[in-house]
Amino acid sequence: MADSETNTASGDDAPKRPEPSGNVDPASMTQISAKETLDVRSAKKTSIPEGLWLRCPGCDKMLFRKAMEANLHVCPECGHHFRISATERIRQLCDVKSFEPRRWKLEGADPLNFIDLKPYPDRLAKEQEKTGQPEAIQAGRAFIKGRPVALCCLDLTFMMGSMGSVVGEAITRSIEFATDRELPLIIVSCSGGARMQEGALSLMQMAKTSAALARFDDAGGLFISLLTDPTTGGVTASFAMLGDVILAEPGALIGFAGPRVIKQTIRQDLPEGFQRAEQLLDVGMVDRVVPRSELRNEIARIIDYAGK
Ligand SMILES: [Zn+2]
Repeated sequence: MADSETNTASGDDAPKRPEPSGNVDPASMTQISAKETLDVRSAKKTSIPEGLWLRCPGCDKMLFRKAMEANLHVCPECGHHFRISATERIRQLCDVKSFEPRRWKLEGADPLNFIDLKPYPDRLAKEQEKTGQPEAIQAGRAFIKGRPVALCCLDLTFMMGSMGSVVGEAITRSIEFATDRELPLIIVSCSGGARMQEGALSLMQMAKTSAALARFDDAGGLFISLLTDPTTGGVTASFAMLGDVILAEPGALIGFAGPRVIKQTIRQDLPEGFQRAEQLLDVGMVDRVVPRSELRNEIARIIDYAGK
């Protein structure tokens, strides 16, 4: 049964849940605004709901949003992998309704009384209201093609998936949970890096998660790190790159500093495909680039191969 094609990711048997509002990432989902639509279409078409179509950043074609979503949020034309929320990732990756979230009463500190456009506590409250999630991570246990796993998914829709003390603590506790239960650990990374609003406390999460992973490794655990677009900063510089097996989605931006910062620093043009998953595979930083449709199979295969 385990190897049979029960892939919820193929979509037919899985409940179709609409994305929570505010889930659209402006960088990847070039949404056609109502105004633009009006400009190019006749008046009778103005009844088309906003966001029904979107332009693919990969091939520049207009896509019917529902068709793209039914295709695991991958462009049916060119295979561009759109960014997805943690909720959608869990829906795609796990066996139907197998995900049991683990929740902790954790709250991020504001030791710097940080204010950018607004105070940090206000920003947190706004993000919680927008996403319906307490923080930029969902963690729990689940089954993937019948294999039990401990799963963490960073959530790009919440403050760019940045790692503050709550995210770091949730990851650490998940690693410890996987160690105690002898479960394979899967962390799906998509993050802008450490959360600047929490200052050094964010940076300390890098050491804490890495130390927990070292203990997990000593105990013989299997850690599969899945890098998705984008995986950057302190997340790349800690647990994301410590996988026993490191998988990446096609085209994912993976790096420490972003390409624009590097370009400005070294004052040189960067090669095409710089910091993309395929280039990292070439230089040996990533073990395999796996299309979204193959992730469940690939993860199940690795777990079986490792005998976990
Ligand atoms: Zn496309």
